[in-house]
Amino acid sequence: MVDAATTSDEIFAFDNSYVRLPERMFARVSPAPAREPRLLLLNRRLAEELRIDPDRLGRPDAVEVLAGNRIAEGSDPIAMAYAGHQFGNWVPQLGDGRAVLLGEVIDRNGQRRDVQLKGSGRTPFSRMGDGKAPLGPVLREFIVSEAMAALGVPTTRSLAAVATGERVYREDALSGAVLTRVAASHVRVGTFQYFYARDDVEALKALADHVTARHYPEVADAEAPALSLFEAVKARQADLVARWMGVGFIHGVMNTDNMTISGETIDYGPCAFMDAHREGQVFSSIDVGGRYAYGNQPRIAHWNLVQLAQALLPLLPGSKEAAVERMQASVDAFPELFQTAWLGVMRRKLGLSPVAEARAVEEDAGLAADLLSTMEANGADFTLTFRGLAALAPPETADGQAVRDFFADPGAFDAWVGRWTARLAADPMSPAERRVAMNQTNPLFIPRNHRVEEALAAAEEGDLGPLETLRAVLARPFEDQAEHVHLAQPPLSEDAAYRTFCGT
Ligand code: AMP
Ligand code: MG
Repeated sequence: MVDAATTSDEIFAFDNSYVRLPERMFARVSPAPAREPRLLLLNRRLAEELRIDPDRLGRPDAVEVLAGNRIAEGSDPIAMAYAGHQFGNWVPQLGDGRAVLLGEVIDRNGQRRDVQLKGSGRTPFSRMGDGKAPLGPVLREFIVSEAMAALGVPTTRSLAAVATGERVYREDALSGAVLTRVAASHVRVGTFQYFYARDDVEALKALADHVTARHYPEVADAEAPALSLFEAVKARQADLVARWMGVGFIHGVMNTDNMTISGETIDYGPCAFMDAHREGQVFSSIDVGGRYAYGNQPRIAHWNLVQLAQALLPLLPGSKEAAVERMQASVDAFPELFQTAWLGVMRRKLGLSPVAEARAVEEDAGLAADLLSTMEANGADFTLTFRGLAALAPPETADGQAVRDFFADPGAFDAWVGRWTARLAADPMSPAERRVAMNQTNPLFIPRNHRVEEALAAAEEGDLGPLETLRAVLARPFEDQAEHVHLAQPPLSEDAAYRTFCGT
């Protein structure tokens, strides 16, 4: 077979569809050149998935492309227009202020994927910003997004990180870097809002057709395609947020411009994984009200979907009243849809077989919720408690005792374990099958904040070793990697003041 990506010296076999949409949906831009580009991280496996030769991507002229110094053959770089609600407040124009879409490639599975530079300079959407990104946040996004992918959570990916050899000025002068981000697309709820707010039904329609063809071709011929598109996005978002909840992930800035239409996690600014379980856990320095706390994420997803529903209304057939009524009914069904997705995640985590008998549903939801509240009341680590359950499932193994020790009051946990083991007795899965299934859904390794910080600090000093180790370990989060067990542990004393920041 002749592979288009390897027949010439071109790096990417770009096939750009967004630039064929109406011109007012984006701005043509060129990335700003970097002074002294140096490749720091390259995601070889992702490159292969994208039908890009990883060796080719590491060559100096390709690194120039990844730094923004050279426009690759076939690239038609743009910044996308979008708007959004930030912390509930409407902002009519945001857009790619520090990102440039180089183009789209078709991956090994025939899926169209965006290749975007983040941190490559100003665009018409930069407002007061410099369009640049500091090294630390670029490396952090690389590590955390790739960890999410390995955990099985839909996400934008990180193809490369390049140091620019320049300073970026925040409170301090920091080293600059550019991330190459890969996404199923970068269309957001806020992209629809941008055109809805401008009464630009033609652009709304073009955008809806674009994402339908790209992400949801099955709804193209529906009776009301915009309604079916909404339903499809709603289902992906319910699934996505349920998966976040299942790994203790806190996105941190669920503004409508940070919610994708594709259902991938996007924007790794203030996100973090929690250690001890807390429904109200917040890490973001700017989230003073706890709007985006762990336990609020389903409600915020619902809120954001209301904004999407509203933006799609002009595309529904029939009278405005009829359109509102149908959309409202769909929006109102989100909490139940989410609950089903969440319960599916939690049932897997608890080692229950996927085919649920209807009568078990209420009981299982209560079982999961009670474990979480017992964890919270006892300061138990979210990840290690779930990981440890496999050892407590009958027949209990020697490692079972260690899980009890996570709980300030082991008796409270034991009472829960009693209920859970009684429930397992009624489940058809065999103990051996169950242990395997649980260890494939409850990770041992997550990007622990203290370990990520440690690795970033070393990288700032020029030592990428700890970051590379962390990256390799997090690529296999479900495997016991005994020599790296310290990377699975929570911090000795939790840093209650740990704060995350917006702004790669
Ligand atoms: P975010 O916090 O990443 O969701 O970004 C919100 C908005 O601010 C987006 O329009 C970004 O493009 C813009 N933005 C964030 N940082 C910068 C920056 N350094 N320069 C220009 N625009 C920025
Ligand atoms: Mg953003």
